[in-house]
Order: sequence, then structure tokens, then C-alpha cells
Amino acid sequence: MDTLWAPWRINYVGKKKKRKGCIFCHAKKSALNDQVIFKTAKSICLLNKYPYNNGHIMICPLRHIGQVSRLKEEEVLDIFKSFKKAKALLEKVLKPQGYNIGLNLGAAAGAGVTGHLHLHIVPRWFGDTNFMPSASGTKVISQSLDELAKRLRKHA
Ligand SMILES: [Zn+2]
Repeated sequence: MDTLWAPWRINYVGKKKKRKGCIFCHAKKSALNDQVIFKTAKSICLLNKYPYNNGHIMICPLRHIGQVSRLKEEEVLDIFKSFKKAKALLEKVLKPQGYNIGLNLGAAAGAGVTGHLHLHIVPRWFGDTNFMPSASGTKVISQSLDELAKRLRKHA
């Protein structure tokens, strides 16, 4: 059997406490640390703790709402401006070759948090999919969240 070393994961192993309440509402109350990259008047930008790929960012409204139809016009504009800013940060820091961007609406669509809208921005590179996800259900992320968050915040 081969061994895959990922020592940065020790920060998460065994610490998976169930936090009460919404993770996005918790993040909006916290200072700019951990995975929070920037905040605006209506939205927050943060790194996904369980990324599909390195640099997986999420943008969510400050209000705890789960329906697109409940977004106010100013929130739509703010979220899209935050998306534009987050994409520019990713381009500066990680230089992706493409992106997957979208909303998972409802548990049937794969939403982990159904009550609070969040827009996923997943950077992509040619060749970033390899045998690991299909052979072992394991995704290899090449950079720690803390290191990436610091680099992104420096340019925010
Ligand atoms: Zn919430």
C-alpha cells in the first residue's frame, strides 16, 4: 500500500466538532481570519474548508437566506461584485486556467448548507483531475488553507 502524506490535515483530524448554527452566519461574525478573505456591506468571501480544488472560494449574502428569490437587488449586485473581486484575487495568486462557478440549491443538488445561499468558485487547471478521486475517493490539495487565505487577504 502506498502512503499519501498530508501533514497539514492534522489541524482538522479529530477536531471536527459540530458547531451549532450556520457556518456562514458564524463566519460573518468573525474577524478576518481563518478562511475569511474579505467582507463587504452585503456579502462575505471565504475559503471552503472542504475544497473541491485548491482555492475553492465561496461568496454568500450576510443575511441567512436560502432562496435566490429572497435576495434583494443590492445583495445580487454586491454578491456579483464580490465574485468579480474573488476571481481577480484567484487570478493574481493562483493563476487558474478555468473555473467552475455555481450554486447548489437544495440537498438533492448537493448543497451541504441548505439554509444559507453560497456561490462556489472552484479554480481549475489542465490536468488537475487525476486518478486519486476516482481510485480512492481522495482529492489531493497542494496548499494549506491558512497559507492560501493569507496570500489572498494580502491582495484583497
Ligand atoms: Zn446563515
